[in-house]
Amino acid sequence: MTKILLSDPDKLHKIRKKQYETNQAYRLSFLDKKTKYYKKKFTTRRNCPVCNHKDSIILFKKDGGVFVKCKKCSMVYLNPVFKDKALIDYYKNNSDNQHLACIQSPKFYTSIYGAGISMINRKLKKKDLHILDVGCCSGFFLDMCKKINWQTIGLELNKTDIEIAQKNHEIWSTPLESIKTKKKFDVITFWDCFEHLKHPKKILTKCFGLLKKKGVIFFQIPNSDSFAAKILRDKCNMFDTIEHVNLFNKKSFNYLIKKSKYKLIKIKSVIDELNVTKKYLNYEDPYYGTTENLTKMNFLNEKNIHSNFLGYKLQILIQKK
Ligand SMILES: [Zn+2]
Repeated sequence: MTKILLSDPDKLHKIRKKQYETNQAYRLSFLDKKTKYYKKKFTTRRNCPVCNHKDSIILFKKDGGVFVKCKKCSMVYLNPVFKDKALIDYYKNNSDNQHLACIQSPKFYTSIYGAGISMINRKLKKKDLHILDVGCCSGFFLDMCKKINWQTIGLELNKTDIEIAQKNHEIWSTPLESIKTKKKFDVITFWDCFEHLKHPKKILTKCFGLLKKKGVIFFQIPNSDSFAAKILRDKCNMFDTIEHVNLFNKKSFNYLIKKSKYKLIKIKSVIDELNVTKKYLNYEDPYYGTTENLTKMNFLNEKNIHSNFLGYKLQILIQKK
């Protein structure tokens, strides 16, 4: 199980890259043809979303967006960023086709989602948990939760995904910030979703009100300190200049939690991305092609990647104080 978890299958990248290319025309419609940046009417400037510091260094420009890194807490974020309305419209109409990825790589997803379930179970040690999965896509993860008798609710904005997910689960289709409910949850999960949300502190506050006493939040988020991201920079899929507005690393996530009403339970580096990185270092397209005939780079191994928190993603569990 761990083996699958640690190596992201190549075909998954092909789906991701194809999706990115499919959406490219729509993305380009936001571009100001003169400046080659996103049109000002769609975007707004901001301070660091974690520590509110003003100063940052520019990492790079990609498509029409600019990624910067906070000089204080090392958070990587898009600045300027799309206005809330523009982002919500985008998600409603653009499915990320996660359901196709799950269908094509069920082993990978069963394994990685299973790791999340284990992390939650180890902390809560309770049956029939009430779970809210934010950004539930087509509900693949919630399906797994239902099989172990958890009470499931999903939150999703995309019309295509809602249609699939609501066959098996109750689905809420408004942004988390505007949810009004008396329901309380043992666990709230954000699988590859938290990086899409512009206001992390507001989200944590909102979740606090939705969680039961000692409730937990599980995150899987891209790691801006990952070896793959640092090697590939603007060529890395992580840097999506519309959707991935906030890219955390261990330091900036700790900073976010430090002044909150949560305590950190566990933070773990997952998905080594070694095939992608090695292909790139071999002068090949990192996301296409085979991994045969790669120059041996034995010093790049899973152990070194994860023991240094250089994995492509972080899995994190925090609990209400
Ligand atoms: Zn900061």
